Amino acid sequence: MSHLLHRAANAVMPVAVGGQGIELIDAAGKRYIDASGGAAVSCLGHGHPAVLEALHRQLDRLAYAHTSFFTTEIAERLADCLIAQAPVGIERVYLVSGGSEAIEAALKMARQYFVERGQSERRHVIARRQSFHGNTLAALAAGGNQWRRAQFQPLLLETHHIAPCFAYRFQAPGESEEDYAVRSAQALEDKILELGPGKVMAFLAETVVGATAGAVPPVAGYFTRIRDICDRHGVLLILDEVMCGMGRTGTLHACEQEGVVPDLMTIAKGLGGGYQPIGAVLLSAAIFEAFAGGSGFFQHGHTYVGHPMAAAAAMAVQETIVRDSLLANVEAMGDHLQERLEQRFANHAHIGDVRGRGLFRAIEFVADRSSKQPLNPALKLHAAVKREAMARGLMVYPMGGTIDGAQGDHVLLAPPFIIERKEVDAAVERLGDAVDAALASMPAGST
Ligand code: PLP
Repeated sequence: MSHLLHRAANAVMPVAVGGQGIELIDAAGKRYIDASGGAAVSCLGHGHPAVLEALHRQLDRLAYAHTSFFTTEIAERLADCLIAQAPVGIERVYLVSGGSEAIEAALKMARQYFVERGQSERRHVIARRQSFHGNTLAALAAGGNQWRRAQFQPLLLETHHIAPCFAYRFQAPGESEEDYAVRSAQALEDKILELGPGKVMAFLAETVVGATAGAVPPVAGYFTRIRDICDRHGVLLILDEVMCGMGRTGTLHACEQEGVVPDLMTIAKGLGGGYQPIGAVLLSAAIFEAFAGGSGFFQHGHTYVGHPMAAAAAMAVQETIVRDSLLANVEAMGDHLQERLEQRFANHAHIGDVRGRGLFRAIEFVADRSSKQPLNPALKLHAAVKREAMARGLMVYPMGGTIDGAQGDHVLLAPPFIIERKEVDAAVERLGDAVDAALASMPAGST
């Protein structure tokens, strides 16, 4: 019997005892290809010697110093490194312990920025349906993931949601990509006008949508329009790159491919690659100046912000990515992964879309390819795929509710940046078998 409250209360979980490269190993000695990096976390795979060495070194030197008393060399070095690589205009880093904490801090920064500037009537946050920003209450309120929100609704602060930019599902037949970009971005301006001039403080979006809809990139021109709308209405743009950032899509920041710079950017998973819990908010010079030249502080803080061990892990991960030119591998292996998925599922009756960027890819299931009709959600195909994949020694990240929180199923793939061609091939082969087995396990006539 376990005394842990697992994610599924009655789950009997395999026990992970080791990890090496792209594989995790359980107590029975079974190996699993980590083709999802957990939840897009393990960007350097497992047991990377450079990170282990850096952690041992930091531990021998200093494990912890509270940030109200001290800064540390390692946190300063990490911040220097992140700012050296950040888009122009981003000048400061606020270190936290994960993605939800980063979102909470970014929302409070947005609010305090306007208070400092005498615009305290700006309080509304606009975000998008089919997004996830974390499970703490403000992050959950900002997220547009219906099933995650549902039972906590009475506790959630007021937020406003517009439609996502999700071409496979919502670009109208015959509508050009450009027209779709204009239409989906216009939803933001409409919402800002509806809420009233000077009332909205921030628009929050995942640059490439992750878990909720499955590696959904924006269409070309969407984010430049969003940036323009934010600027015209004095609204801050917060890009959530907790999942899609730090190299996952082939550039360090996913927004580089959109040609936009946010006012605030949240990063986490790939920042420390799972070697330590760490997240961060990257903030613009203007926001920093509002605090520095106003009240003189950002009114926030957690016991573990700027934790030296977490900073050491992130520093080693980021140095390794640069030293080993891993972003080039993300791009090359990402293209190979897309190609192999397209080949494997080319004539598959139940795969409607293969999409994504870099090593951030997804397949979306359908009952019928031409109508894009989703499968009956009651079948919980995504859960069956996960089960069948684990049985075959493969970790993938399947999810239901792809389209609207209830309908649709997809599988997200986010393998380590160190993955090689033959490992991509092995992962796709196991996934193909798992998908076929999961579909075969559905009741006759149900798919
Ligand atoms: N934002 C995005 C886009 C995420 O995918 C997640 C987690 O999956 C979060 C925020 C929350 O991060 P964490 O689970 O580290 O709190």
